[in-house]
Amino acid sequence: MEKKIIYFDNNATTRVDPRVFEAMRPFFCERYGNASSIHTFGGSVMADVEAARCRVAELLGADFRDKDGRAAEILFTSGGTESDNAAIAAAAAVAPERRRIVVSRVEHPAILTTVREYERRGYDVRQIPVDDRGRLDMAELAATVNENTALVSLMWANNEIGNLYPVTEAAEIAHRHGAIFHTDAVQAVGKVPIDLASQPIDMLSLSGHKLHAPKGIGVLFIRRGVRFKPLVTGGHQERGRRGGTENVPGIVGLGEACRLAKAEMAEEVRRLAALRDRLEREVLKAIPRAFVNGDLEHRLPNTSSISFEGIEGEAILSLLDRHGICASSGSACTTGSLEPSHVLRAMGVPYTRAHGTLRFSLSKFNDESEIDELMKVLPGIIATLRRISPFWREDPA
Ligand code: PLP
Repeated sequence: MEKKIIYFDNNATTRVDPRVFEAMRPFFCERYGNASSIHTFGGSVMADVEAARCRVAELLGADFRDKDGRAAEILFTSGGTESDNAAIAAAAAVAPERRRIVVSRVEHPAILTTVREYERRGYDVRQIPVDDRGRLDMAELAATVNENTALVSLMWANNEIGNLYPVTEAAEIAHRHGAIFHTDAVQAVGKVPIDLASQPIDMLSLSGHKLHAPKGIGVLFIRRGVRFKPLVTGGHQERGRRGGTENVPGIVGLGEACRLAKAEMAEEVRRLAALRDRLEREVLKAIPRAFVNGDLEHRLPNTSSISFEGIEGEAILSLLDRHGICASSGSACTTGSLEPSHVLRAMGVPYTRAHGTLRFSLSKFNDESEIDELMKVLPGIIATLRRISPFWREDPA
């Protein structure tokens, strides 16, 4: 029998909802035509693509429809990374005389690595700092955006600590100076209400695999009237804004995931927040010198970043893994050096804490019994690792 997996890593990726999978199924072996074909077999699929586009728009509160009833502000991409890249590229291309790009220090690498490339090309890239709870310095943002700014990009929700950012205020600051405002809402969509009809956001990125649709499908919302230049050029798909044959199963799956999120979110968010709060309560009660990171008042309902002083997050993860429990650490092991992540560093979390940071991220497929299972093993794992850790002091004073 397969070992039961307890999956607390939903900010990394989510399980495809079986209802999403069923909606996609006909588009592999039966209705596999090319949506852009002239023949009825292929072309009829376009109606499903457009229906999915409307469902995405409905979840986002994007109320514009063109004369054919299409939600033309929704551009399908390959995922969050492409959407972020396309937003930055478009903002730079439509206003080449503006040479400043403003982002936060806690953006995802899809933004930070990309703007670094623009820096190499001569752009003046500014990263706005955060405080020890990961809250953005809004005064610094207001002082940094100027008439030379092409783009302000601020994430809606942080993937590591779950903080929610004041995107409406940031958009207003950007607009005062004629800059485009983009938000990476990859972790927010489906977890917090979004109403683009009333929020002055020019572009927004989302990713299917973070909300129970498959990997490899995403969206860039581009508000009507906001100038755009394609990143991916080729055929005339997506009204000339992104070349490449449409990923029909992915698009249909994302549409269904958005429909489900809209119908179920309000109820689900309450349940998730209660589950997360219980997890934190029990961890803090059972384990000394554990600290919850982030802005506890403005955060996602599903994400908990907890630092366990004096030990390595990776060691905790590998012991949890033996029990089939999946979570993430707060390190960036891309360099092989296990540096604390750029988010924890930007917050100034002390090294002995930052190294022992775990992220638990929940979804609609988690339940109370899984928290019970976690709590049966986690306190013992932490105590064992602290006993052998050179960085642990029983009495920190
Ligand atoms: N932005 C944020 C905030 C994310 O959490 C992620 C994925 O982890 C991405 C962008 C990238 O999305 P994708 O994996 O769809 O490229």
